[in-house]
Amino acid sequence: MPEEELSKTIELNEDLIENNEKLAAQNKETLTKYNIRSFDVVGAIGAGKTALLEAISKRISKNKRVLVINGDVTTRIDADRIERHGVKTIQVNTGRECALNSYHVSQVIKNLDLSEYDVIFIENVGNLICPSDFILGTDKRIVVVSITEGPWVIRKHPMLFKFSDLAIINKIDLIDVIDVNIEDMINDAKQINPDLKIFTTSAITEENLPELIKEIFSD
Ligand code: MG
Repeated sequence: MPEEELSKTIELNEDLIENNEKLAAQNKETLTKYNIRSFDVVGAIGAGKTALLEAISKRISKNKRVLVINGDVTTRIDADRIERHGVKTIQVNTGRECALNSYHVSQVIKNLDLSEYDVIFIENVGNLICPSDFILGTDKRIVVVSITEGPWVIRKHPMLFKFSDLAIINKIDLIDVIDVNIEDMINDAKQINPDLKIFTTSAITEENLPELIKEIFSD
């Protein structure tokens, strides 16, 4: 690519990111005005984002009104899984885009009666790279990886860990059959972001879920 074209592309991307940040700030203001706690859940396909949201929603929906916004390229499989637990979901199909952006979220919340919700989880499109550039305006970002993604998954994706508040290392119920050292994974995450709160979980056995939920809703 000629140098001039390349610099134009970079400028364009910077505009995109700047506009995204402005809209994210508006989203945050709107959600805060309605006293809604909001969370952006990112991670690869198959890390267990939906399974964790099912398990978390099931526990908290007894005393909190929960909405889950599901980003997906084409399907509503995840939204249907979560709705089985009586939690309201909204599906956002992103088409060719590999992450949700703050415009998607603004369009969803614009058309909602926000007084009907206490908590909004946004399950981002399954991807460990794209979402790092696009904040959505939530209170916290939660990154989910699983031990089945191999021992280097955290070290290979530093950006998402750098800009998340909470990291979940999921599928610890499989530790006997997967050759990874969870302590090493935790140390990788801490090295990238010393402020990161890190939890090891299993959405199946629900190990450490109460502690995780407590941390998610802490200020
Ligand atoms: Mg999912």
